[in-house]
Amino acid sequence: MEKIEILKEKLNKNAVVTEIAKEKSPFKVLISTILSARTKDEVTEEVSKRLFEKVKNVDDLLKIDLEELEKLIYPVGFYRMKAKNLKKLAKILKENYNGKVPNELDELLKLPGVGRKTANLVITLAFDDYGICVDTHVHRICNRWGYVETENPEETEMELRKKLPKKYWKIINNLLVVFGREICSPTPKCEECFEEIRERCPYYKKIAY
Ligand code: SF4
Repeated sequence: MEKIEILKEKLNKNAVVTEIAKEKSPFKVLISTILSARTKDEVTEEVSKRLFEKVKNVDDLLKIDLEELEKLIYPVGFYRMKAKNLKKLAKILKENYNGKVPNELDELLKLPGVGRKTANLVITLAFDDYGICVDTHVHRICNRWGYVETENPEETEMELRKKLPKKYWKIINNLLVVFGREICSPTPKCEECFEEIRERCPYYKKIAY
């Protein structure tokens, strides 16, 4: 896990913690994470803020008209599908969870529009509990580093749950997303990588020699 320690030291200041995540409201974190699918962070942040001025809780989400909801979230893309999922979600939360967002991974995964990445993010950001949020950056980099040999993010999450010490679970996403965007991108900028990481990187050794 040495590479993560190096990254922590180098990148922690740049870690992405949005205003919404800072609030630690399970409802807001869940909704904005659903909105964020295939959308840029800046767009999600802006749309979420606008939405939460009108929709502050599950009851508001139940009451709002589908068409108005679609208009409010339009910039995030796939807005029709997302709005429909949000309405279904509000109904399920009200009927099955007393209007609250559940704090268990398995329960979150039963909700419409919620996949493993979203569920883990909610567990980590809203409930400050242990989740491992694996997106394409985490999946790609962990494979390049040889921590895992997996085909998709879900398999990577399962492997990391076995191999990764718990103290890294919550931070791995933030660190590797920033690193994956800036340096270890799909076409990696190895020459710009931190020397301490590059000299320990099996992927670099393979392409450099
Ligand atoms: Fe990624 Fe290249 Fe750095 Fe290895 S050396 S971590 S492949 S950028």
